[in-house]
Amino acid sequence: MRIRSTACVNAVLHFFYPSYCLHCDGPLVEKHHLLCPSCLELIEWIRPKERCTYCAGPSPCTPCKGSPRPLRPHLSLFEGCGPILSLYNHFLKTKQGKGLASFLLLALSRSSFPIPDAVIPNTDRLFPQREPSYLLARSLARLLKCPCLLPGPNLEDKSVLLITSALHETRALLDMKRHLKGFFPRKITSLVLIDYRA
Ligand SMILES: [Zn+2]
Ligand SMILES: [Zn+2]
Repeated sequence: MRIRSTACVNAVLHFFYPSYCLHCDGPLVEKHHLLCPSCLELIEWIRPKERCTYCAGPSPCTPCKGSPRPLRPHLSLFEGCGPILSLYNHFLKTKQGKGLASFLLLALSRSSFPIPDAVIPNTDRLFPQREPSYLLARSLARLLKCPCLLPGPNLEDKSVLLITSALHETRALLDMKRHLKGFFPRKITSLVLIDYRA
C-alpha cells in the first residue's frame, strides 16, 4: 500500500513537474523547467512583417485579395508547431496559464499597444472559467495588475486587450472584435498565442 501511494505521489509530481523536456524528452537543467535549453531556443516568434498586412495571417493571403479583413491592431505570437505546442498542450492539461501568459506579456511589452485597462478572454461561454482563453487572460491580467473582464457594459471607455489562446480562422476574431465594439471601449487590441491559420 505504501509503495502504491508513493508511486501515485510520484506520478502526480511528474505530471506537474516533469523532470524531462516536454518536447524532446531530453534532460532539464532545472527540475522546475518545462523545456530543455535547445528546445527553448527552437521557439520561433511570428514576424509581423512577414504576415498579411490586413489580417496578420500567413502571407500571401488569398482571402484578403478578394476582400481585406482588417484585424489591426493585432499580433499573433506563434504558429501551431514545435516546442511551443508542447508547452501549450501541457497548459491545456494542467490549466496553469502563468508561463504562457508571460509570453503574452513579453509580446505586449515589445509592441506599440497601450497598456490595457482590462484584459478580455475571447470566449462566448456563459461560464468560461475553464476555457483556455479565459485562463490565459486571467493570468495576464494578474501580471498586469488589471481586471480580467467578460464582454459587457463595463468596457465603456476602456482600452481593452482581447486574448485568444488558439486561432483557427480570421472570421471568429473579427466577429468578437465587432461584438466588443458594441460596448464602446476606447481601444481594442488583440493578441493570439497560437495561430493555426494556414
Ligand atoms: Zn527539449
Ligand atoms: Zn489576410
